[in-house]
Amino acid sequence: MGMPEYDVFIAGGAIAGPVAAKFCAKQGLKTLLVEKAKVPRDKTCSGIQFPYFEKIIGDPIPPDRLCRNTLSKVEIHFPNGKVTQVGFPMLSFMRSTFDEWLCRLAQAYGAEFRDGCSFKSCEESASGALIHLEAGGKHETIRARYVVDATGMRAVIRRQLRGAEGFQRGGTGATLNYYFTADGDLQPDTLYQFWNLEFNDAMFAWVYNKTLPDGQDYWVVGTGYEKDIYLHLDRFFAHVQNLYHLKNVNIVKKEGYSASMSLLDERRIWLGERNFLMTGDAAGLIDVTRGVGMDAAALSGRLAAKAIGLAARESRPVGETYARLMKDLVAQTRKNQHSGVQSCATNAALQTYLDKGMLRMGLRMFFQNRLNRLRSGEHQVMLP
Ligand SMILES: Cc1cc2nc3c(=O)[nH]c(=O)nc-3n(C[C@H](O)[C@H](O)[C@H](O)COP(=O)(O)OP(=O)(O)OC[C@H]3O[C@@H](n4cnc5c(N)ncnc54)[C@H](O)[C@@H]3O)c2cc1C
Repeated sequence: MGMPEYDVFIAGGAIAGPVAAKFCAKQGLKTLLVEKAKVPRDKTCSGIQFPYFEKIIGDPIPPDRLCRNTLSKVEIHFPNGKVTQVGFPMLSFMRSTFDEWLCRLAQAYGAEFRDGCSFKSCEESASGALIHLEAGGKHETIRARYVVDATGMRAVIRRQLRGAEGFQRGGTGATLNYYFTADGDLQPDTLYQFWNLEFNDAMFAWVYNKTLPDGQDYWVVGTGYEKDIYLHLDRFFAHVQNLYHLKNVNIVKKEGYSASMSLLDERRIWLGERNFLMTGDAAGLIDVTRGVGMDAAALSGRLAAKAIGLAARESRPVGETYARLMKDLVAQTRKNQHSGVQSCATNAALQTYLDKGMLRMGLRMFFQNRLNRLRSGEHQVMLP
């Protein structure tokens, strides 16, 4: 039997990967999507997105893949103690069940999906890339014309092509979530954001409810910090317990995440070269100023598929087309890279940063949210 051949190989069955796979398969391209974990698998993430996320995916999200509680308000706590509430509908889900659905969706559109299958290495040959895979101790090599890296911040294909460029030695900080049950005054329809450098040094610290489709009901408290993550989360959690009169607090699960992609390094954002395209966090598109990354991951997956379709049909160089389609998203991410909370040394500076930014952000949310309803999935503008 000859070596299996595909038009497109995609590593990473989370957000960017399955969205790319869906849109590749939709164009009739023979597509293989691999995910190293068995699905459903856990992923440290708040799983909160804007409604336009569904438009980028291009299919309605089944209600049983969403949390039972709807998030419709954001309560913002400023460093100076002021609190404001804004109404805003959000999507909320657990990444385990959501990512599994996306992989199955790509499959339904005709992509081949293998879970428990890892990308190991690749090499270029005259007739395309040779990809070495491993599943359950067995090794296999396939050939593909186009290769998409959707393996997140550890970016396994990118690391092979580009080495440590855009990464730094050791970690660049960590994020930590505690799942807990408690009685008290927290509201399940509200995303609580606490802007305070004692709690989080890159964005806000968070609290929200996750009522799972099976009825299990948790609160999640979490934050990110360059170092001493437990100390900062414990301090923040004590503040939350006091503020919302929480009683009978029981931590049922802790989950953490750390990566070495360098948030401030210009070279972090890299879309790939030749027939190798980087998407989502593997392309460096996580945006801590916006506080989210799944929308950019989905959009980059969709646009990578579009670029591959155009390149395959019209013999165009895929990298140029992808870079052109991604121009606005890359420009926004680069701009935000240098204007985030990291630029504030004190809470007073953070307060000034927020005073200046909040009105602008509110207006932008108001208008772009309305315009996004009129725009196609490929032309969504990321918020806030
Ligand atoms: C604590 C925390 C909270 C967050 N909250 C939000 C939020 O509320 N909203 C939001 O929009 N964003 C949030 N983000 C960011 C968001 O999680 C990422 O931007 C998003 O997951 C990126 O998706 P991706 O598809 O690029 O990669 P990832 O989600 O990182 O997935 C990469 C996939 O590749 C797989 N993989 C890795 N190596 C291999 C291999 N060798 N072979 C095959 N598969 C492989 C992994 O198993 C994984 O499934 C949060 C991040 C963190 C850390």
